[in-house]
Amino acid sequence: MKWRVPLADIDLGQNEIAAVLKVLKSKWLTMGNVTEEFEKQFANYLEVKYAFAVASGTAALHIAHQVLGLTKGDEVICPSLTFVATANSILYTGATPILADITSPGDLNMSPESVLEQITSRTKAITVVQCGGYPCNMDRIMEIAKRYHLYVIEDAAHAPGAEYTGKKIGTIGDIGCFSFFSNKNMTTGEGGMIVTNNGQLAEKIKRMRSHGMTTLTWDRHKGHAFTYDVVDLGYNYRIDEIRSAIGLIQLNKLNENNERRKTIVQLYRKYLESMSDISLPFTEYRGKPSFHIFPSLLKEGISRKDFIRELNKKGVQASVHYPPIHQFTYYKKKYNYTEGMLPKTEIVGKRELTLPLYPTMSDADVSYVSNAVQETIESLVSKRKCVS
Ligand SMILES: *Cc1c(COP(=O)(O)O)cnc(C)c1O
Repeated sequence: MKWRVPLADIDLGQNEIAAVLKVLKSKWLTMGNVTEEFEKQFANYLEVKYAFAVASGTAALHIAHQVLGLTKGDEVICPSLTFVATANSILYTGATPILADITSPGDLNMSPESVLEQITSRTKAITVVQCGGYPCNMDRIMEIAKRYHLYVIEDAAHAPGAEYTGKKIGTIGDIGCFSFFSNKNMTTGEGGMIVTNNGQLAEKIKRMRSHGMTTLTWDRHKGHAFTYDVVDLGYNYRIDEIRSAIGLIQLNKLNENNERRKTIVQLYRKYLESMSDISLPFTEYRGKPSFHIFPSLLKEGISRKDFIRELNKKGVQASVHYPPIHQFTYYKKKYNYTEGMLPKTEIVGKRELTLPLYPTMSDADVSYVSNAVQETIESLVSKRKCVS
């Protein structure tokens, strides 16, 4: 399908291509000095002590939960309205993800009150997702975590560059996880980053990324070591130099691209805010978002399927963020989840519609999509009137 306006697109150019060629010509392809530089610059950007580049955002989340020492019987509270990797990565460790509800249709982030309700003697951590790049109420989450002695993991896949009370998102909890998948605010194709200020956790994270080994091929190449020990059951979650080279260029464009995303969101709001059949979450927000996606909520009674089909006919791609995790077959079967357990999440899961948002989108594209939305509403509402 060739879209007039796709859901997402990548700002990728000659600089990334040149950086990749340079790596290929160097013939050192996996974790080496380019990855070290990527980690250093990412840590500097976030003003955090340690940053470890990994193969994906999911790998980052898996390691983050693993190094907390979670096992069977432990519980970790996370939202249901997120990408499935958030909960999967908890499940990988043997622990149980306990799903919490969102705050409201205006604030799609996990509700701290819902988190409180789910805390038991088995709770070990809270995993927050900065939904759409909009910071959640981290003050309240950290306060709850402190009171109940829980770790906080930030799934910051949507939020590189976002800020909350003067701190970068991802650096407020114990560990922050980023994804550089192709539709994220910065990309390496596949890739991720784990950040922390905790030296002990950093040591473990570093080892888990590479088979629990005490030294890397790179260390041995540099002559720093000639053998290694294995002290943990680790994984191969390494990134390669090719992707780190792309990441370095992408990181340098992140602020500018997040600013452009903000301008696009403001423009969308100007066009869409007055429409009565669609509402826009995050009219109010905390701190400085990274504007990862542009979610909207269709009024009850409007068929989302028909809406998306109409938009598609006009060449506009649209999507849903997210089908709630507790409604997926795998999770429903495993935990016997029932309809109505997370009412706010379920309403949003049914009515949410995500419109295109990416930094290379032109003002004309935003106007085109907004017009397409307006026309779609008009045609669906008039059809509904004819029927009734
Ligand atoms: C993209 C995403 C992930 C997973 O990242 P990958 O790099 O695709 O593994 C995890 N959580 C959230 C909220 C995401 O959006």
